[in-house]
Amino acid sequence: MNLGLAGKTVVVTGAGQGQGSAEARLLVEHGCRVFAVDLCAQVPAELRGLSGPGELIYRQLDVTKRAHWEELAAQLSGREVHGLVNNAGITQRDRLAQVSLEQLHRVYEVNVAGPLLGIQALTPLFAPGSSIVNIGSVAGLSSHYPVAYTTSKWALRGLTRVACMELGPAGIRVNSVHPGFIETPMTSAANPSFREATIRETPLGRAGSSQEVANVVLFLLSDLSSFVNGAEIPVDGGQTAHGGAKSISDALK
Ligand code: NAP
Repeated sequence: MNLGLAGKTVVVTGAGQGQGSAEARLLVEHGCRVFAVDLCAQVPAELRGLSGPGELIYRQLDVTKRAHWEELAAQLSGREVHGLVNNAGITQRDRLAQVSLEQLHRVYEVNVAGPLLGIQALTPLFAPGSSIVNIGSVAGLSSHYPVAYTTSKWALRGLTRVACMELGPAGIRVNSVHPGFIETPMTSAANPSFREATIRETPLGRAGSSQEVANVVLFLLSDLSSFVNGAEIPVDGGQTAHGGAKSISDALK
């Protein structure tokens, strides 16, 4: 199937591992010229040795630094940019009573200010038909316990909606994807009880893969989603669909 992505330029943040690297690889497979950006100076191992039909250009970029975004925009200047995947994110697992203001600020800086800076820097390079995908979380659809992370992902939904409203008239679509428990370096560092409890709340009864998130991102960047704008798409095996009713249903079986 032709997704209309061949030759298109797409920027993916936090592309060095986990979901970001899966998104970058999939886009290259579909013919995109991918600017994959992350914190590390060297090309991350997960991005080495890719073969076309597209192309991958790696660049060090901290999403919280406006100057880094300006440098990327200058490199891309004169080129039409089709897509931005605001994937970079950090977690912080302190609970309500413990979290410090410094931790709150740091999480907001990466998870909220980072996507905002990316949208500000690249919007002048977008043409009608372009697409921005913000990677949220089921945390931003629920009352997930890590308070800094959860509130940052709710804020990202707000940013997505404002950007959808403001950029729609220019033909730029803005959507968000909300992964459930996905096997990545981020979740491998979590308490095993978190994994087990989340899977118990997931109707499909398993964790998801980075590839399964990347597939939805690909759809949102492609012409197949040309009238999808401002959508919030969970990729969570049904975790958020039951609104807490699963344990009740399970108890009555
Ligand atoms: P990950 O494995 O931790 O990968 C995130 C990448 O982003 C890392 O390479 C990280 O670099 C990079 N990064 C962190 N801060 C950055 C910054 N300031 N500038 C540029 N890059 C930065 O995470 P993941 O699990 O793939 O998560 C990707 C996205 O999905 C995040 O937004 C996350 O919140 C969201 N998400 C994940 C899950 C899940 O279950 N995995 C669930 C819901 C939502 P370093 O490693 O050097 O820090």
